[in-house]
Amino acid sequence: MTTMTSTRVRTDTAARAEGVTKLYGAGDAAVAALDDASVDLYAGQFTAIMGPSGSGKSTLLHMLAGLDRPTAGEVYVADTEITRLGDKALTTLRRDRIGFIFQSFNLLPTLTAAENIVLPMRIAGRKPDAHWVAEVAETVGLTGRLGHRPAQLSGGQQQRVAAARALASKPDIVFADEPTGALDRRSGTELLGLLRGAVDDLGQTVVMVTHDPTAACYADRVVFLADGRIVDELYAPSAEAVLDHMKQMEA
Ligand code: ADP
Ligand code: MG
Repeated sequence: MTTMTSTRVRTDTAARAEGVTKLYGAGDAAVAALDDASVDLYAGQFTAIMGPSGSGKSTLLHMLAGLDRPTAGEVYVADTEITRLGDKALTTLRRDRIGFIFQSFNLLPTLTAAENIVLPMRIAGRKPDAHWVAEVAETVGLTGRLGHRPAQLSGGQQQRVAAARALASKPDIVFADEPTGALDRRSGTELLGLLRGAVDDLGQTVVMVTHDPTAACYADRVVFLADGRIVDELYAPSAEAVLDHMKQMEA
């Protein structure tokens, strides 16, 4: 780990991985997607996770978001150690406290944008706060498109629906796995600005996997993964500094 040089005030931990190992497969064929990975993700910050393809970025995000369970180690969402939770409690925690933005949007094609945005709250039996949902829809630039179905929206607009869905329940933390991966440059830039705005204006905590140094620059902090381990971090990243770190890691 490099020394933290930022003057940023250290905030609370929103999520934490402690010695997390994830094995896929068994015996000689087992692959360690994560190998004793530990990282703290701070509340109110935008953290980017970077690393080569296959370094375990998606696996780490899935463990932190409670979408999958580690083979060993502990995962905390705020103060809750989630690996010990039963399936039902974990599902509830995910619905109430976590938002997730996938590279491929994962919207339901038969529902309108508005219906997609509030679906997780409906499933959870919670009444969506109409005022807040309208504010989020406006923030992501979807006003006027809320009655459209995904097929009637561009990729960029669909990802904005997915972002609004992740933000609408005011989760403790929003995870995004290469959310700009399927978008053209302009839509990607808009989405990154939106996530940055969610942190600055709404106090949202955001953790985003990306392989794009320009995208990583929207973050407050970049955490680098290699071979399933956290190997480095960088505060107040510039594209140049990020590229430098990536080159050093390859060397
Ligand atoms: P990244 O997102 O950084 O590209 P992943 O977390 O997707 O990396 O994968 C890390 C490693 O784990 C890779 O070697 C990958 O092939 C392996 N892996 C990921 N998911 C599975 C799975 N469901 N079954 C078997 N191996 C997997
Ligand atoms: Mg991945």
